[in-house]
Amino acid sequence: TMNDRKKLIVGNWKMNGSLAANQDLLQAIRAGIADLDAAACTVALAVPAPYLAQVQALVAGSALALAAQDLSPHEAGAYTGEVSAAMLKDFGVRYALVGHSERRQYHGETDALVAKKVQRALAAGLTPIVCLGETLPEREAGQTEAVVRRQLAAVIQLNGHCISEVVLAYEPVWAIGTGRTASARQAQAVHAVLRAQLGAASSHAGRIRLLYGGSMNAANAAPLLAQPDIDGGLVGGAALKAPDFLQIIAAAC
Ligand code: PGA
Repeated sequence: TMNDRKKLIVGNWKMNGSLAANQDLLQAIRAGIADLDAAACTVALAVPAPYLAQVQALVAGSALALAAQDLSPHEAGAYTGEVSAAMLKDFGVRYALVGHSERRQYHGETDALVAKKVQRALAAGLTPIVCLGETLPEREAGQTEAVVRRQLAAVIQLNGHCISEVVLAYEPVWAIGTGRTASARQAQAVHAVLRAQLGAASSHAGRIRLLYGGSMNAANAAPLLAQPDIDGGLVGGAALKAPDFLQIIAAAC
């Protein structure tokens, strides 16, 4: 099915990298995307905050966009350890992951907090990439649809029609970093549910990009990206290896 949603591939480095390793990785990625058709797709890198300045310089003049892995729900002030949306903007950041399952699991991020972070990102002119998805026990209990609908509802409730400015990433928790990918059919089924829920909230739901994440790799990217409601990928492990990441990009662009 053709639609006018430009594909988006986001590499999520998580807590990996060093000045030297980042330099090597970026050099290889830049060389590999020299001929990329920037009109066909967007590629972004979600890097650890201390490396934003380095990566900003390394992607300058390329088709690569910069993303953050998280942001503070607060504007500024006495919030030790937090990074604000305005600070991210200062370094040329365009996208911010919000509510990644590792933040929800290890840092107790609630649906309400995720919704607030989305609001803060939008207010600052960043595009939030809202991550959602069910755990294995939730899937096995037949709760997948209810869980993702609840997670998305909180974001819609606080952000209203601004929902058309976000990107969603469906990441089944059981598929993240496990080598176990949702099948293209399983992923498409959830994406269709999310698309329908967005449609009830916004007349622009048709242009909202829905990414799949969870052990996406060079071999499974193409069938996932061929699904009518899968508009890109959020890539963890495979984004740290230039050849793998480049193959995923090639499947999207
Ligand atoms: P993975 O991570 O590709 O290593 O499964 C994806 C993510 O957590 O965004």
